[in-house]
Amino acid sequence: MKTAVIMSRLQAKYPLEKEYLQAVQEVLSSIEDVYNQHPEFEKAKIIERLVEPDRTYSFRVTWVDDSGEVQTNTGYRVQFNNAIGPYKGGLRFHPSVCPSILKFLGFEQIFKNALTTLPMGGGKGGSDFDPKGKSEAEIMRFCQAFMTELWRHIGPDVDVPAGDVGVGGKEIGFLNGMYKKLSHQNHCVLTGKGLTFGGSLIRPEATGFGAVYFVQEMLANHKDKISIKGKKIAVSGFGNVAWGASLKALELGAKVVAISGPDGAIHIPNGMTKEMVDYLLELRATNNDVVAPFAEKFPESEFLAGKKAWVVPCDIAMPCAYQNELAQEDAEQLIANGTWLVAEVSNMGCRPGAIEALQKAKIMFAPGKAVNAGGVACSGLEMSQGAMHISWSAKEVDERLHAIMESIHRACIKYGTEEDGYINYVKGANIAGFMKVAEAMLEQGII
Ligand code: GLU
Repeated sequence: MKTAVIMSRLQAKYPLEKEYLQAVQEVLSSIEDVYNQHPEFEKAKIIERLVEPDRTYSFRVTWVDDSGEVQTNTGYRVQFNNAIGPYKGGLRFHPSVCPSILKFLGFEQIFKNALTTLPMGGGKGGSDFDPKGKSEAEIMRFCQAFMTELWRHIGPDVDVPAGDVGVGGKEIGFLNGMYKKLSHQNHCVLTGKGLTFGGSLIRPEATGFGAVYFVQEMLANHKDKISIKGKKIAVSGFGNVAWGASLKALELGAKVVAISGPDGAIHIPNGMTKEMVDYLLELRATNNDVVAPFAEKFPESEFLAGKKAWVVPCDIAMPCAYQNELAQEDAEQLIANGTWLVAEVSNMGCRPGAIEALQKAKIMFAPGKAVNAGGVACSGLEMSQGAMHISWSAKEVDERLHAIMESIHRACIKYGTEEDGYINYVKGANIAGFMKVAEAMLEQGII
C-alpha cells in the first residue's frame, strides 16, 4: 500500500471532503509500514475496502417549529464498518454536519471501537439541525421526525447509535421513545439512555472519566511516575465531555484552570471547585452555547473574550470541544507556556500541524480515538447490560471502564513505542485498532 496513491485517488473522488481525507491520511500514514509487512492485507485490498463506508443513509427530516413554521433538515447515518460487531457510534446535531464530517467521525470510530476490546463496528450519524436556542418541544419534534426515518436502519445487532455533540440524554430519550413506538420493540438500540429505561450508570461521565484515566496511565508510564495531583489542566469546551473530565480531575486533586466556549475562555486561577463543575451542566442546559456567564457567576474567575483555553498556562491540555480546534499556533503557544502533556479528547481535535509540533517537541500527546474511547466503551457496557436485562452498579461499570482505558493504553505502548523510547500514541492507537479490524475482515472473506 502506498498512502500517497490511495490518498490521491480519494482526493480525486471526494475533493470537497476535507475532514474525511484528513482522518484517512492520519491513519494510513501511521499504519503503512505495518500494513506492508502483511501481503495478505494487500491481496484482500483491506485498505481500499476500509476507507469506503459500507453504506450511507441520507434522509429529509421535516418538523414544525414553535411559531408554526415548517422546517426541513437533512439526517444521515453512515454505517462504516461492521467487521467486529454492529455499527456503533453517536449522532451529532450541529449546523456543520455534512457527509465529510460524518465520514471522518465514522472512520475514526472503527478504530476507536476496536481499541475498546468490545465487539463494536464503526458508524456515525446526525443532522445539520442546530439545537442552539431551540425549545424543548422543538427538540422533541425534531428527534421524533428524525427517528421516523432512522428506525428502519438500526437494531441492537445491526447499528446502535448514541449521543455526540448536540445529542445528550434528553435527545436520546426522545429518539428512544419514538423508536419504541414505531418498532414495538424494547431492546437496546440506542445508548446513553436514562437510568429508568435501560441506561447505564456512569455513561454521562464516561468520556471525561475515561480521558482522565488515560492521562493517569500516561503519567504512570513516565519514568518519573508522575501523579496528577496538583497539576494544572486546561480544558476546552464546557459540554458533557469537559464536565466529566473536570469532575474526575477535581476528584483526583488536579486543578482545572481553564474552560472555554465559542465566545471565549474562562481563566480560573485557583482551579474549579465542585460548585463550578456542577454549574457547567446548568450552563449547558440553557442551550445558548456561551461560556461568559460562568465568570459573572464566579467572580474569582475571568472571562477572556474571543480567546482559546490554550492561552492559560497549564501542565496538561485537554481539548474537549470540536475537530481541528487546536491549531499549530496553539500547540506552539502551549509548548512556549511549558505544557508537557496534551490529551486530545475531542475527535480529531488537533490539526496535523499541531500534532507534528507537539511530537517534534517530544510532548506527550495522545489522540482522541484512544483518549475519548471511554464514552463508547461505556456504551458497549450499556449494550451488554441491555442484552442481559440487568444493571450493574456504578462501581462495577467504573471498574470496567478503568480496565478498558488501561488496556487501550497498553495497546498504544505495544505498537507506538519508538526507538528512542518516545511513545507515539497516534501510531500506537492507529496500528492497534487497525490490526484487529484487518484481521477480522480477512477471516470473513471478500464481502
Ligand atoms: N459520540 C461518542 C464518540 O465519539 C460516543 C459514541 C457511542 O457511545 O456510541 O465516541
